[in-house]
Amino acid sequence: MMDMPLEKTPHSTPSGRIADLADQCVQCGLCLPVCPTYALDRNEAESPRGRIAIASALARGLADPAAGLREHLDHCLGCLNCEKVCPAHVQYGELLIATRASLGPSPQRPKHLLGLIKRPAWMRLLRWFGRWLALPRWKDLLIRRLPTASPWRAALRTMPVAAPAMRVRTDETHAEGPCVALFPGCVASVDDAEAQQAAVALLQAAGFQVSVLPAFCCGAMDLHGGATKGAERAARKVQKAWLASGATRLLSVTPGCLGTLRRALPDVSVMDPLELLAPHAEAMRFRPLARRVALHLPCTQLNVAGSAGALLQLLHRVPQLDVVPLPPPASCCGAAGSHLLEYPERAAQLRDRMLRQLGALEPHLLLSSNIGCRLHLGAGIRDQGLQWRHLHPLTLLAQQLEHA
Ligand code: SF4
Ligand code: SF4
Repeated sequence: MMDMPLEKTPHSTPSGRIADLADQCVQCGLCLPVCPTYALDRNEAESPRGRIAIASALARGLADPAAGLREHLDHCLGCLNCEKVCPAHVQYGELLIATRASLGPSPQRPKHLLGLIKRPAWMRLLRWFGRWLALPRWKDLLIRRLPTASPWRAALRTMPVAAPAMRVRTDETHAEGPCVALFPGCVASVDDAEAQQAAVALLQAAGFQVSVLPAFCCGAMDLHGGATKGAERAARKVQKAWLASGATRLLSVTPGCLGTLRRALPDVSVMDPLELLAPHAEAMRFRPLARRVALHLPCTQLNVAGSAGALLQLLHRVPQLDVVPLPPPASCCGAAGSHLLEYPERAAQLRDRMLRQLGALEPHLLLSSNIGCRLHLGAGIRDQGLQWRHLHPLTLLAQQLEHA
């Protein structure tokens, strides 16, 4: 008998998969109260349930991805608060990635600016050049001249223009103990090098050898922005760097990178260093710090890394430190990868709402693990003339570590 070509099941096509994922939704609406964009607009199309309906209609060819319709999908922050509370276990994150991949990058996506931000060497060079041109002095004038919705304006407001203070050193390893690899990322390798160095110091104090991988983008901004080819290239780069590391685990101090790293390395244990450090918390000694710190838990730390408990456990080891997390329900600061560049006004609305909540805690310091969130919140802190410093929690822990 001749082999007949099998008819493709809907599941084997991208739109079939999107339709299947969307069909998991029972439309109960339990996700609406935890969705930050629904809280902002009170519009069903800006809710998880509304977005699932839009994705389903697009995948089935029942709607046209006209700008107005796709914009509701583009506004999504990918915070995954909805996935966390969903009783039907809808894989909203997968649905969003697949839908954005099928639609391609959004018209709002600042391709050239992201191309720059994703290259740490270029960012360092540009910052040195900016300093040479005395950019910090005329930055405000430049910002005022750019249109309010310009992604370049948002980047200038958010990104530091001073030359990066340090690089994470790669020459230190502990002689004994399991070897773990640290993934420095792109923005974090430039603007959170202090946190990376802190992670190295804490991990070594806990008995691990640390191998620091080269700095490059994990591909998260491409993956979540529908730029599939860029995301695939980044995944291959991650796989190559991992294979060369000879480590047993991959770590990132930036929870926003973890989901993408896990996709690239499905058989590897990829985690937040806090999770690895927490079991050693009892053996670590920290100097007292009489300060009240407001703790911002990024969406990716809560919903992807799952390291909030480990973080609290470690911070509670610092004598006299008063740690005050933001009261529930968890929200999003609006940074959300490249969202703060694509929709700066919406991002600022979400951030200012969060800063009001943080202000009520009357903190001396703000802690947050995600560099994107911290830069975005930091811009709001500066705009409002507030005096809080902001740090990665690992930086604070390493500063207080007794033998450091
Ligand atoms: S909670 Fe889950 S099932 Fe209910 S509307 Fe939201 S996504 Fe759909
Ligand atoms: S990922 Fe966040 S912003 Fe997007 S629909 Fe879910 S809860 Fe709303």
